[in-house]
Amino acid sequence: MSFNVLVVNAGSSSIKYQVFDMENEKVLASGLMDRVGIPATVLTHKRTNGAADVVIEKDMPDHTEGMKLVLETLVHPEYGVIKDLSEIKAVGHRVVHGGETFAESVLITDEVKQVIRDCFDIAPLHNPPNLMGIEACQALMPNVPHVAVFDTAFHQTMKAENFMYALPYELYDKFKVRRYGFHGTSHFYVTQRAAAMLGKKVEDTKIITLHLGNGASMAAVDGGKVIDTSMGFTPLEGLVMGTRCGDIDPAIVFFIMDKLNMGPAEINNYLNKKAGALGLSGVSNDFRDIGDAAAEGNKRAQLTLQVYANRVKAYIGAYMALLNGCDCIVFTAGLGENGIPIRQMICEDMEFLGIKMDNEANKVRGKEVDVATKDSKVRIFVIPTNEELVIARDTYALAK
Ligand code: AMP
Repeated sequence: MSFNVLVVNAGSSSIKYQVFDMENEKVLASGLMDRVGIPATVLTHKRTNGAADVVIEKDMPDHTEGMKLVLETLVHPEYGVIKDLSEIKAVGHRVVHGGETFAESVLITDEVKQVIRDCFDIAPLHNPPNLMGIEACQALMPNVPHVAVFDTAFHQTMKAENFMYALPYELYDKFKVRRYGFHGTSHFYVTQRAAAMLGKKVEDTKIITLHLGNGASMAAVDGGKVIDTSMGFTPLEGLVMGTRCGDIDPAIVFFIMDKLNMGPAEINNYLNKKAGALGLSGVSNDFRDIGDAAAEGNKRAQLTLQVYANRVKAYIGAYMALLNGCDCIVFTAGLGENGIPIRQMICEDMEFLGIKMDNEANKVRGKEVDVATKDSKVRIFVIPTNEELVIARDTYALAK
């Protein structure tokens, strides 16, 4: 009998889901419910059997009502993909912050939910909706195992010398102020795939992973274990992102608070939502729009792409130093998988570090491929990420 796993990623006003048949790891359906809890909720339900997408417009006051509609859709006589809810044997939940408690996925118990709650303070945008998603699903499917898969878990192998900030130590003791890292499920997935592409056991590899999406982070992975990553206490640190500033001089925060008369919540929102590629380019947070504007001669768009690429280059250099070399760098997520020009800009003039891109081979999108020249010491891989598959596999392993 097949073992179906429902994967749920609940955001503040959205629910993403996929149903996997774990016998063959095939996706039966996936979907996105947008505007949960605000008027004009839309559910887009996709089946993988080639049938047309189903779009349902119906206001959903909260996540429980939203999940109810998702489950009704999954068993719908016309466009459902299973006959009965009992065919879902387990549910895997994406949870952004697991603090220092979880280095692996876990079956959700009351204690686990308490840890997720304890992390509300340090992940106020993500953990509360993640927990809402869990509680909604538990209420609707009380008799199946629910599993939490944490974005922070893969980075828990970092040592104190890499996760500590040079701040008074009591901030760590009292408030757990340290670097955590995010996108761990994606960094884990592409690390495994990269080792397979290298034809090596992951234990014998040194890999630098570049998750370049709307949020962006990098990781230095030695023998399958993260030794450093670019996001920190929150996802604001590190690379330039769609709307987040990444690394800046912390003194700028007080300077702008003073000049623009902002309080802590306002500056937090400003640096998370109005900065990054959007703020610098003045065009968009979408790199397709910025690329188009740059091609038409928009100087700020051109500058944004170069600032973006230079930040990534600097991190590659830093991670090569920390790893003492590397076998490959991996591009993944929206921009990493599709951004042909940005990949080229990042890899340009890196021969000294053994990185040589084949610019013709680089003209690919969304495929697993090696785009380095034959004589490049470091392989350059493009690998489409699959966080949902990792969540489904962990859920299956823990639930079966
Ligand atoms: P993600 O967060 O992984 O879904 O990535 C979303 C981002 O990927 C978008 O904001 C775009 O900037 C970028 N992206 C997606 N497709 C392309 C493309 N064809 N060319 C350049 N950037 C892309």
